[in-house]
Amino acid sequence: MNIPFIDLKTQYESYKDEINQAVISQMESTQFILGKQVEKLERNLEKFTGSKNAIACSSGTDALLLSLMALDIKSGDEVITTPFTFISTAEVIAFLGAKPVFVDINENDFNIDHTKIEEKITSKTKAIMPVSLYGQPSNMNEINKIATKYNLPVIEDACQSFGAEFQGKKSCNLSSIGCTSFFPSKPLGCYGDGGAIFTNDDKLAKKIRTLLNHGQEERYKHKYIGINGRLDAIQAAILNIKLKYFENEIKKREEVANRYNRLLEDVKNIKTPFVHDDRTSVYAQYSILCKDREKTIEKLSNQDIPTAIHYPIPLHLQEAFCFLGHKKGDFSVSEDVAKSIMSLPMSPFLTKEHQDKIVKTIKG
Ligand SMILES: *Cc1c(COP(=O)(O)O)cnc(C)c1O
Repeated sequence: MNIPFIDLKTQYESYKDEINQAVISQMESTQFILGKQVEKLERNLEKFTGSKNAIACSSGTDALLLSLMALDIKSGDEVITTPFTFISTAEVIAFLGAKPVFVDINENDFNIDHTKIEEKITSKTKAIMPVSLYGQPSNMNEINKIATKYNLPVIEDACQSFGAEFQGKKSCNLSSIGCTSFFPSKPLGCYGDGGAIFTNDDKLAKKIRTLLNHGQEERYKHKYIGINGRLDAIQAAILNIKLKYFENEIKKREEVANRYNRLLEDVKNIKTPFVHDDRTSVYAQYSILCKDREKTIEKLSNQDIPTAIHYPIPLHLQEAFCFLGHKKGDFSVSEDVAKSIMSLPMSPFLTKEHQDKIVKTIKG
């Protein structure tokens, strides 16, 4: 019994004919970058999220970077974010010479603790960047309220939460800007790198569109210093197909997660994911708190069951961020969670049989 961590193979097999056909047509068209399929994807993404503008781009990291560039964030500025996330979130802030200002997370949902944001706002603060970790949005109402009070934009790092909802509204359309990733293992993944940026602000959308194509408004007329942040047409063609089945996959993800929750309910030492009543999660990861994590990982590994740790070291303790001068204990909730968090195999195609084996191994 070979249990994949994320079952991309069964997913591909399920849509294979359509995807193969789309990729071949795209190659025959010789339209490889931007073009019709990318435009079609953007309209589909706008329809899906309800956002006025969707801009496809080269990755989730570039989506975050382009958003900060569009807001003119530069050296000397500060951006508030969480230390318990994938490196990209804070990496792009530092890449532009700005300073990531960390705020610790909640114990229950592992998202930024909005009650601790205001005390970190200074005259240098230029944006707030919450992360919708593991697929569940933060309390975006409260974060937007603080942002409005200080006239700051909010960039949702929705790289794990495409398809999730907050009070009935779709992630990516919950604040000034939303950024997502189509990296293969994300809830909606393509077959390479890809991402998208969402905003209801037309002027900002136009600027982001220009920035991702070398700041070029017309061919060889460059208004800004930009980047090559364009999406490949083949990836867009694949996403246009996968998007048709995505709502159904979200339902299956929820079913798998709910079944894990039930089966693990009575296991001492394990805390299953908490999802707020006014939100949904797309379970980019099914992550549990496990007091005897190393032993549990070993038991699973002995049965060839893969696990992962998202994330073992919070960003403030990463060598790359040592210039910020943080030390152990600065963000104690993040540090505690990092010590016992672990992710179990999760995909819409995880069979009951495999799930039972995973749970039995944990309990055994
Ligand atoms: C995956 C991820 C990113 C980066 O997305 P890429 O497409 O891999 O560049 C950024 N932030 C978070 C929270 C992520 O999970």
